[in-house]
Amino acid sequence: MTSSDKRVHIIGGGLAGSEAAWQLAEAGVAVTLHEMRPTRGTDAHQTDSLAELVCSNSFRSDDAQNNAVGLLHEEMRRAGSLILRAADAHKLPAGGALAVDRHGFSAAVQSALLAHPLVELDRTEVAGLPPADWDSVIVATGPLTSPALAQAIGAVTGESELAFFDAIAPIIHIDSIDCTGAWKQSRYDKGGPAGDGADYLNCPLDKPQYDAFVEGLLAGDKTEFKEWEKNTPYFDGCLPIEVSAARGVESLRFGPMKPVGLRDPRTGKRPHAVVQLRQDNALGTLWNIVGFQTKLKHAEQTRLFRTIPGLERAEFARLGGLHRNTFLNSPRLLDGVLRLKAMPRLRFAGQITGCEGYVESAAIGLLAGRFAAAERAGQVLAPPPPTTAMGALLGHITTGADAATFQPMNVNFGLFPPLDAGTRGKERKQALSARALADFDAWLAPTPLAAE
Ligand SMILES: Cc1cc2nc3c(=O)[nH]c(=O)nc-3n(C[C@H](O)[C@H](O)[C@H](O)COP(=O)(O)OP(=O)(O)OC[C@H]3O[C@@H](n4cnc5c(N)ncnc54)[C@H](O)[C@@H]3O)c2cc1C
Repeated sequence: MTSSDKRVHIIGGGLAGSEAAWQLAEAGVAVTLHEMRPTRGTDAHQTDSLAELVCSNSFRSDDAQNNAVGLLHEEMRRAGSLILRAADAHKLPAGGALAVDRHGFSAAVQSALLAHPLVELDRTEVAGLPPADWDSVIVATGPLTSPALAQAIGAVTGESELAFFDAIAPIIHIDSIDCTGAWKQSRYDKGGPAGDGADYLNCPLDKPQYDAFVEGLLAGDKTEFKEWEKNTPYFDGCLPIEVSAARGVESLRFGPMKPVGLRDPRTGKRPHAVVQLRQDNALGTLWNIVGFQTKLKHAEQTRLFRTIPGLERAEFARLGGLHRNTFLNSPRLLDGVLRLKAMPRLRFAGQITGCEGYVESAAIGLLAGRFAAAERAGQVLAPPPPTTAMGALLGHITTGADAATFQPMNVNFGLFPPLDAGTRGKERKQALSARALADFDAWLAPTPLAAE
């Protein structure tokens, strides 16, 4: 039997599913791509095209030397990505960004797939777990996975491991935090299962600073929910800070900004209020602001959070948000090649794995396709090294992120293993990019056959 005799099934013909299908077909493996549109729509898609861009028409920065998403573009091009090929063919003037004619782009992806002899398109919803005889499946159904399938996945993973909303607190690059006024301490110096009693970075606020911060929150411009998101349930555990602040000026001091159990070493006293940051990735390069999920507009977040002592020059790996978004607790549930540990015939790709963004979703689709193709050939493909953009992103969602607080993530240089101390700013980004591309090329190069 050749590898094309046994097809791989891909559920979802979005950014990730289309790229995965292309990678498999190009590797000689037959694919059936199951896409439910137009039979069944989602709240965001408008067309029946494969790889529809549901909102912006931008793939963000195309600068492979200085920007992590630009670097991801370049790695994808080198790996023969269909999504990048179609984007390049339909690009529009947009400064340093790769923006596309959305209709031309989607049509190009769809026609390339339909023209491929190993790709079959099935326009139906997979409304439950795939049949048992589909022994290799890629689930790429995105942030708006149909309810019937989401329910079936939740039954396998356990419902608490499949989220239907993200509640994202801002994440900051540690080397942009001024630690002179901040100190490390866990509340009541508690060690906990993995800590040493000094796990949080505490930024203290006095009363005037706290009052000004609350005022800024209440006055700040907020992003509106989309019509179909308006019934977003607020769980008290992940209330946006501005909603909490609106309940009374003291409410944040009794919530995420409470100072109890903490003592500022400079004064020997408990501060009036505190902003706490907690390590967000195993590398220790990214720290999240604990409990600071918010719907403030991004510019407003940057301005307001930089008024917090210690964060005046903070560089944000991502800003806060709250959206409808179906995603797995991947660090707990998936293995290193994106298979569900509890049911390895199911592999996941795209935004449902907890990456965020068109490009990241397509990149994880590319990897899922290559992993599945290798498996069909009886081989195991090692993931790309963590020094590459694809490897860093994959490593973050499968192992590097903290499963207890896992939230969707864009690619950014904070996910990469750091370079030797001393390289900073532009020089650091360029050195990370050069290392990534060299390591990526080595990963792509065919492994020489071992001599018999
Ligand atoms: C409203 C909204 C706006 C966004 N805006 C942006 C943005 O501007 N820029 C950005 O970079 N990212 C944005 N994102 C985030 C994300 O990058 C995109 O959602 C991206 O399309 C994710 O790619 P994907 O392949 O994982 O999912 P999708 O592209 O959504 O593809 C999933 C596909 O699966 C299909 N499907 C779902 N369930 C089933 C089923 N049971 N059977 C068969 N087919 C099924 C869907 O119809 C869809 O075609 C946005 C997300 C949302 C929800």
